[in-house]
Amino acid sequence: MAAEVTVYKSEVKPTWCPGCGDFGVLNGFLKAVKELEIDPKTLVVVSGIGCSSNFPHFVRSYGFHGLHGRIIPVATGIRLANPELTVVGAGGDGDGYGIGLGHLVHAMRRNIDITYIVMNNAIYGLTVGQASPTSEKGMVTKSTPEGVIEWPVNPMATALSAGATYISRGFSGDPNHLAELIKGGIQHSGFSLVDVFSPCVTYNKDNTYAWFRERVYKLEDESHDPTDQTAAFTRANEWGERIPIGLFYRTEEKLTYEEEEPVLKKGPLVKQPLGLSKEQGRALLEEFL
Ligand code: SF4
Repeated sequence: MAAEVTVYKSEVKPTWCPGCGDFGVLNGFLKAVKELEIDPKTLVVVSGIGCSSNFPHFVRSYGFHGLHGRIIPVATGIRLANPELTVVGAGGDGDGYGIGLGHLVHAMRRNIDITYIVMNNAIYGLTVGQASPTSEKGMVTKSTPEGVIEWPVNPMATALSAGATYISRGFSGDPNHLAELIKGGIQHSGFSLVDVFSPCVTYNKDNTYAWFRERVYKLEDESHDPTDQTAAFTRANEWGERIPIGLFYRTEEKLTYEEEEPVLKKGPLVKQPLGLSKEQGRALLEEFL
């Protein structure tokens, strides 16, 4: 019998502000793993620092709440040690598109088979409202009283140029649609980005639910072909009165890093002999303790 969503919910209640977009992302995620019937014992959720990075606490699975901007290195390490696990990164735009952007670009070009959900609210919420890498030019925040003077990161275009093989964007106001994107990302063999418009109701008064509802449209409603990279770039650059959500791009033509890595041809590292005696293993551990 298929598991209920409650199987994947931990006993820890989310600490987010009432109405925070991250609730919708959590609901979409729980629906996705339930429908895929993923065994919680084979699921690992990795986060960094930020409001959204509390995510693993609310999921009944393995979890790793790490350092700011370091979701990708930790998720990569877990995945390479044991490619039999489903590895999901979950964090915010400051974490992923600011301090963690270098890691992200390399994971995408390597095509590591992880799914990375970025709860993008265009603000640093945990530190009470500074401009983030996706804040729009001109946006007034606590750190930019005269408006942001920089151009924002475009996550979709960045992922396309870095070589990610599954690139999508959802809206936390539509968790059912988002669940389908997350499911597709988890099922995809290769690096999957699921960027999510996830409003910060406390500190971002510009990009609200209402603001997004007036603008977002679904790519699948407009016959977008997600195998067409050029069309995906055109959609990625669309912003303003109309903003696309859905699956921008997907390709199966690239092998994953795990498939290419010769060491993993003998099976998961966790199942391979260390090549050390017990004494040598103990001595090595002691050297690091
Ligand atoms: Fe969500 Fe913003 Fe509250 Fe953080 S500060 S929990 S992002 S609404």
